[in-house]
Amino acid sequence: MKTFCGRANPTTGSMEWLEEGEDYDYHQEIARSRYADMLHDKDRNVKYYQGIRAAVSRVKERGEKAIVLDIGTGTGLLSMMAASAGADFCYAIEVFKPMANAAVKIVEKNGFSDKIKVINKHSTEVTVGPDGDMQSRANILVTELFDTELIGEGALPTYEHAHKYLVQEGCEAVPHRATVYVQLVESRRMWSWKKLFPVHVEAEDGEKILVPPSEMENCPGVPSVCDIQLNQMPSNDFSTLSDVVKMFSVDFSKPVQSASTYYRVQLEPVKSGKAQIVLSWWDIDMDPSGMINCTMAPYWVKPTSALQWRDHWMQCVYFLPREEPVLQGEKVYLTACRDEYSVWYNLQKAREGEERADEEEHKADAGVESPVCRCRAHLLWNRPRFGELNDQTRTRQYIKSLRKVLKTDSVCLCISDGSLLPVLAHYLGAKQVQCLQPSRIDLYHPHKLWQAFFKANNLEDKIKIIEARPELLKPSHLEDKKISVLVGEPFFTTSLLPWHNLYFWYARTAVSTHLASNVTVLPQSASLHMMIVEFQDLWRIRSPCGTCEGFDVRTMDDMIKDSLNFRESREAEPHPLWEYPCKSLSDPQEVLTFDFTQTVPQHCLSTEGSVKLLRKGKSHGAVLWMEYHLTADISVSTGLMQLSNEKVHLHFNLLCQ
Ligand code: SAH
Repeated sequence: MKTFCGRANPTTGSMEWLEEGEDYDYHQEIARSRYADMLHDKDRNVKYYQGIRAAVSRVKERGEKAIVLDIGTGTGLLSMMAASAGADFCYAIEVFKPMANAAVKIVEKNGFSDKIKVINKHSTEVTVGPDGDMQSRANILVTELFDTELIGEGALPTYEHAHKYLVQEGCEAVPHRATVYVQLVESRRMWSWKKLFPVHVEAEDGEKILVPPSEMENCPGVPSVCDIQLNQMPSNDFSTLSDVVKMFSVDFSKPVQSASTYYRVQLEPVKSGKAQIVLSWWDIDMDPSGMINCTMAPYWVKPTSALQWRDHWMQCVYFLPREEPVLQGEKVYLTACRDEYSVWYNLQKAREGEERADEEEHKADAGVESPVCRCRAHLLWNRPRFGELNDQTRTRQYIKSLRKVLKTDSVCLCISDGSLLPVLAHYLGAKQVQCLQPSRIDLYHPHKLWQAFFKANNLEDKIKIIEARPELLKPSHLEDKKISVLVGEPFFTTSLLPWHNLYFWYARTAVSTHLASNVTVLPQSASLHMMIVEFQDLWRIRSPCGTCEGFDVRTMDDMIKDSLNFRESREAEPHPLWEYPCKSLSDPQEVLTFDFTQTVPQHCLSTEGSVKLLRKGKSHGAVLWMEYHLTADISVSTGLMQLSNEKVHLHFNLLCQ
């Protein structure tokens, strides 16, 4: 079977559709999957094992045979736990064929083939009966179908179906229940991932303030979950406005409803402030008594208990549709709305003396509709990009450097996606400002966003958007003028890795004939930097596991190793490094520089050399980032910001990615 896969080509800035074989998808899936991380999650594994043992004992105590249904068996781990705990038979369901094949091998290797039947189907396709996949309904339901948002991987419809067709009434479920917790916070940092803040520019003729259009101000944004390693968020970057409260629970041992619904809690702010963000996480009780609990709570909730690091489950950041001022002690209602796969939040003020608002009225207020971006900005800019555009230190560097290079007669062309640089250039006095907005990103009609943006700032007719690819730029687009200042951040929406933004260099080369002989290119160059590091935890997502709770899972290790060796998996992978603490084992080192004042050379650029290790440690990998030299003395870094504590601990650019 062949599939078509879209891939951005950083030399053309375009999406290209390539025909790929069946194994392509499979390797991508395994290489990027979180199976290794799950197998290293000791806390999760131990608690599942305890919960499964307890469930098998309860069934046996009732004098029944223990028949287990394990939905989403992956490596077969939870079924093997159940079989070891004395279950009579396990049906291990796995929809992803390569994983089902691996489960068969792992189960056999561990000697459980007679107790565990691996079924390569989606659970909703599984049949029960004498000729069915399962001989009878199960009385123990074991699953691990949760993502950071709990329900994003389809746990609810899967449970709903399983209770209707695959398990007995009154079955034991491991986990028994899940509970979602929330805490209301104010955080300029996190709010900057959703809102565009006004940009202040000191121009010759006074201060200019660039404001977002009103449709952007009131836009609910996008519904996709924002999951982060909340424990790495600096504590001075947010302030908690409420205690932690339970938002909703799901009992997995009873029939589960997946239809859209909402839950509401009353909160009494512990502090006055601007309610902007709902932080959320969940825990699962492996048994009905709640004695075996596995929690995703951040460090400040239970400061005494040891935290288990994991990347397959983190914490969620939800953005309220609007910022709401709240007063200490003045009650508010927080509503969680959910459909089958996602959750979103709303906040309403409680009316004086009123314990519960009228249900129907409340329903209307609650905004049961899932958030959909109306302003287009949330489609054009993802959350890290919002963070970048709101980074005042970074903006100041651009303003400072533009001020240096712009003259009153400057003809300026900007090549970057969804950039504010053209507006800054206009405010700083450039005579003519144009911006290349090629059609590859017009899926979201960004020109409509720009029209609204220009209108809100009275900039109509001041900045020209040229909807052409660089190689198709014509003198008439530029009113037959030569470009005296070519600017870029550079940033392109198709970039995944830092060097993909070198597309700026290719675009600069393509527009060469339009450049004045004394053109200024900003940034004038870029350099790729590298450092060898030891990660505190991130190594777990790659490291072989060997045995997991006594079960041999080396087949899985080999599969992951194979897939990591497959084509682009061998390339670097993007990670928001502020979320993953590491220490440096070498000095940061400049690896390559790219001179944007010249065209892209015909020959291949490469470098070779050695790195001096400064201290003992496990070198888990090299981290790479770009620095852009805007002018000779002004640079911005997309990676390392600061070395501290005798150059050991690193501070990376804190932009949510
Ligand atoms: N149970 C394993 C793996 C969990 S990962 C463990 O705990 O280590 C979840 C797995 O469930 C994935 O392999 C995914 O392909 C599978 N899956 C998710 N929903 C499913 C469904 N409804 N039916 C069958 N498999 C499913």
